[in-house]
Amino acid sequence: MAKISINLNTGTVDDKKDVVVGIDLGTTNSLVAVIDPDSKEPRAISQSDNKNVITPSVIYAQADHTFIVGEQAKRMLTKHPEKTVYSVKRLLGKSYNDVAEYTSEFGFKIIDEDTESLVKIRLGDRFYSPIELSAEILKELKASAEKELNQKVTKAVITVPAYFNDSQRQATRDAGKLAGLEVLRIVNEPTAASLAYGIGLDKSQQKVVAVYDLGGGTFDISILRIEDGIFEVLATNGNTFLGGDDFDRAIVNYWLNTAAIDADSLSASEVQEIRLLAETAKKQVCNGSAFVGNFVGKEVTLDLDVFDTLISDKVDETIRCCSNALKDSKVAIEDIEEVVMVGGSTRVPLVIDRVTKFFSSSNIDSSLNPDEIVALGAAIEADILAGNRRDLLLLDVTPLSLGIETLGGLMDVIIPRNSRVPFKAGRNYTTSIDGQVNLKISVFQGERDKVSENRKLAEFVLTNIPAMPAGFPKIEIAFILDADGILKVRAKELRSGVEQTIDVKPQYGLTDDEVEKRLLDSLTNAQKDLDYRVLHEAINESEYLIKSTLKFVENHKESLEESVLKEIDTLIKSLETSIDAKNKEQIQLSQDALNDFTKPYAEQMMDVTISDALRGKSIE
Ligand code: ADP
Ligand code: MG
Repeated sequence: MAKISINLNTGTVDDKKDVVVGIDLGTTNSLVAVIDPDSKEPRAISQSDNKNVITPSVIYAQADHTFIVGEQAKRMLTKHPEKTVYSVKRLLGKSYNDVAEYTSEFGFKIIDEDTESLVKIRLGDRFYSPIELSAEILKELKASAEKELNQKVTKAVITVPAYFNDSQRQATRDAGKLAGLEVLRIVNEPTAASLAYGIGLDKSQQKVVAVYDLGGGTFDISILRIEDGIFEVLATNGNTFLGGDDFDRAIVNYWLNTAAIDADSLSASEVQEIRLLAETAKKQVCNGSAFVGNFVGKEVTLDLDVFDTLISDKVDETIRCCSNALKDSKVAIEDIEEVVMVGGSTRVPLVIDRVTKFFSSSNIDSSLNPDEIVALGAAIEADILAGNRRDLLLLDVTPLSLGIETLGGLMDVIIPRNSRVPFKAGRNYTTSIDGQVNLKISVFQGERDKVSENRKLAEFVLTNIPAMPAGFPKIEIAFILDADGILKVRAKELRSGVEQTIDVKPQYGLTDDEVEKRLLDSLTNAQKDLDYRVLHEAINESEYLIKSTLKFVENHKESLEESVLKEIDTLIKSLETSIDAKNKEQIQLSQDALNDFTKPYAEQMMDVTISDALRGKSIE
C-alpha cells in the first residue's frame, strides 16, 4: 500500500513536499492551520480579507448564484435570513428524518420530500446539498491559506466530531473534494485537540484524557485512551443542542423580560440583531467588564453575576454528560490525567470553575487558544501525513476507496481511501422492486461518483431473499479489509439471515501511476461527478415518489375527489417531464409541488406509503 503524492498543476507524481493544511470545519466557526516552515510550530492562518483567523461558518447566497462566506455573510443574517445559511454542519450527511424536529429553527428552507434521502437547502430558485455549502466554506479557507502561503494548497486533513457516522464522514470528504482538496484523512476533533497539546506524539506515552469541547451550538465530551501513538475513543457523550448559542439565548430572554420587550413585536432582522448583541455582551462580561448597550431604543445591561445565574443549569448539564461519559468508558475519574479544554465557550469563567471542580485530580489544559486548538492539531496530523516527521511512522492505508454500485450507477463508498488497515465497515441497503429475490452486488474501487469511471473488482449475486415488497429487505453489506489488503465482502439479508461472502483482492493489477491518475481524475471531475450524483439521486427519489403516490391513489380512489385525482395526475406528468429533461432544478421543484399537494391527503388518511420511513438506499 502506497502513500500517494500528486501535483494538481502538472498531474504528475510529486517528490517535493507539498504543504498539507489542517482544517477545523466547525458548526459555528471554521479555521485552517499549517505547520510554520521556520518555527515548525502549528499556527492558524488569517482570512484573506482581514487579520482574523476565525471564519464564521456562514454562507450567503448572492443573486448571481455565487457565495459570500464568513464575517460578511454573518452580517447578512439580519438582512436576508432566507438566503444565509449557518450551522450547515448539522445537516451534513443527514436525511430529512434526522433533522425534522429542528428545521423550523433555521431562517432558510430545508427541502423535505423523500424523507430518507439526504437533505437539501433551498436558496432562491436553487437547491444545494450541505456538501456543496460546506465546500464553499472549505474553498474560502483554501483561498486564505493559498494567499498567505503564496502557493497552491491541494491537500488537507479535516476534523469531525468523534460521534460522526460513516455518512457524515463521507459527506465531509466529498465537500473537501468539491473544494479541490484531496482529503488525506478525516480526524476526530478530540484527537486533534490532544495532538495540539503534544499528547500522543511520544510513542511510549500511555494515558487517558478527557476532551471537553463546548462550542457555539454543540457540547462534546470524549474520553480517549492513548497508547503507542494510537488514539482510542473509549466513550463520547454530549448534547448536539447545547453551547454558546444557548448562553446568548438566555441573555436575550433576560433582556426581553427586564426591558419589557414583546418578542412577537420583533422583525426577523431584529431577532438576529438582539442575538448578536447578546453574544457581544457575553464576550465582554467573560473578559471581565460589565456590558451596557441599547436595543430598539431601550437600555440593556449584563454583568458576570447575572450571566452566571442565567447559564448555571446549562453548565451543570455539561458536567452530567461528563459523568455519563466516564461511566461508559469504565475509567475512574482519578485515572483521567488531563482534561483538554476546547471551543470558544470554554472561555466562560463558570465553565472553567465547574470543570476544574469536577475533574479535581486532573491537569486542566487550557493554555492554548480554545478556538484554534482543533485546527492546530489537524495541522500536526497533516504534517505527519506529509511525511515531515520521520519519528512517527505511518500505518498502512488503502490507496483508493472501496464501495458498491447503487441505483442509477452511483458509487457508494464503504471504505474510504486512506483508511488504516485492517478496517471493517458496513452499511444497509434494500431492494427497489416488489418481490425481488436476487440482488446483484458489484464491488468497485475508485474515487469517482459514477461506477462506470471506477474499477470493477467483483460481482456476485445474493440469492434466495424471501419475496418482500420493495424497500422491505434489510441487506447489510460488510467490507472487511485485512492487513494484507484482501477484501472480504459479505452480504446478509437481516430479516431472513440469508448470507453470502466473497474474497476480492483490490490491489491486484493496479500500479501507483494508475492510482495517482484516478485520484487526479476525481479531483478535476468533482463538480461534474457531484452534478451527476445529485441528478441521479433526484431521479431515484422522484421515481420512488411517483410509485408511492400511484399506490396511494390506488388505495384511496374512493375517498379522493375527482379534481384532486386530476391535479395529482398533472403533477406526476410534470415530474415525469422534468425527469426526461434531466433538469435537476426542475425535478426538485416538481417533486416539491407533488409532495406539498399530496401531503395533507396522506396525513388525513394516515397513510405511510408516501413518507415511508423504513427505506434505505436501494441497489437495483
Ligand atoms: P464551533 O466548534 O461550534 O464551531 P467555537 O469553538 O468556535 O464553535 O465556539 C464558538 C462559541 O464560542 C460561540 O458561541 C462564541 O460566542 C463563544 N465564544 C467565543 N469567544 C468567547 C468569549 N471570549 N467568551 C465567551 N464565549 C465566547
Ligand atoms: Mg469546534
